[in-house]
Amino acid sequence: MRDVDLRSDTVTRPTPAMWAAMAVAEVGDDVYGEDPTVNQLELLAAEHLGKEAALFVASGTQGNLVSLLAHCGRGDEVILGDKSHTFRFEQGGMAALGGIMPFTLPNQPDGTLRLEDIEAAIRPDDAHFPYTRLICLENTHNLCHGVPLTPEYTRRVAGLARNHGLKLHIDGARIFNAAAALEVDVRELVAPADSATFCLSKGLCAPVGSMVCGDVDFIARARRARKVLGGGMRQAGIIAAAGIIALEVMTERLDSDHASARVLAEGLAAIPGIHVAPVYTNMVYFDLDERLPLDAYEIEARLAARGVRIGARSARSFRAVTHYWIDDEAVDLTLDAVREVLGTPAVESPILHCDMEAEH
Ligand SMILES: *Cc1c(COP(=O)(O)O)cnc(C)c1O
Repeated sequence: MRDVDLRSDTVTRPTPAMWAAMAVAEVGDDVYGEDPTVNQLELLAAEHLGKEAALFVASGTQGNLVSLLAHCGRGDEVILGDKSHTFRFEQGGMAALGGIMPFTLPNQPDGTLRLEDIEAAIRPDDAHFPYTRLICLENTHNLCHGVPLTPEYTRRVAGLARNHGLKLHIDGARIFNAAAALEVDVRELVAPADSATFCLSKGLCAPVGSMVCGDVDFIARARRARKVLGGGMRQAGIIAAAGIIALEVMTERLDSDHASARVLAEGLAAIPGIHVAPVYTNMVYFDLDERLPLDAYEIEARLAARGVRIGARSARSFRAVTHYWIDDEAVDLTLDAVREVLGTPAVESPILHCDMEAEH
């Protein structure tokens, strides 16, 4: 049975080209700055994002944390969205390890923070208040259905930040998906920001790693922060070799994942009882009608038994994420499995009981 895994684009395994590159990667001690493959990846990442320098880190979480530690001191405050990954899913690392305080603002359905809200959240110089130091945006916005944030919006937030002497960081875990969806150069999306991170290990298929990009001074501070977090990785060229292919090759094909997501969404929307949210990039969020007898966890289990893995997010909702290993056949298999699971009434289901009673 073929395994179709739509739980996340993090499940992507390396491509054959990546395996080949990893096998012959030149390596050295990266903590001494002597791993030629890591150095090459860092140069390429900086160039792709139009920043002075870059740093290879173990994960997106580590990338955001070293960025925050490089921008902020203890007691400083960061403005970010209440649905942001950094606030929701990074264990409060900024507070736990950096003494940095989050000031959350409501993420709008389009992933943005309202400029008025940001303006109102910035602290005046008063001994009662912490210093506001940083604004964080997320692009694409994961919990907001993978929506991309535009260069215009980013420039407006950066303008506001500059006027108040603040820095702007972009959690661009899927920034190349945003660039593909908006048909802009990724440089345009991050040019207004002081720093940006992106993941090599999601839709770009690398086995491990993220990049942090910014100016030379910022990257020097981020490098120190990475070391104290235990993120100095020695002969990391083995994984950086896959990262180079992620950056140079895999960033060019994300449109294809977005097309698969649209096909999947259309197919799901045609199934009675399923409501699909708008699809912007590679994420398909969908809800179940209240009247369906099975809840999402039960459906998740039944799909898994058919080799199709989709993550239930609550009793009534799912997220499916397309990626390199999801081709047309995988989308077809998924739709068949969902139709089968929803179309085959469970023995214990109330609807089946009703029907059976009606027949008698
Ligand atoms: C996945 C993700 C991260 C963190 O990445 P890990 O590599 O899983 O630590 C950060 N931000 C966003 C928006 C993400 O989707």
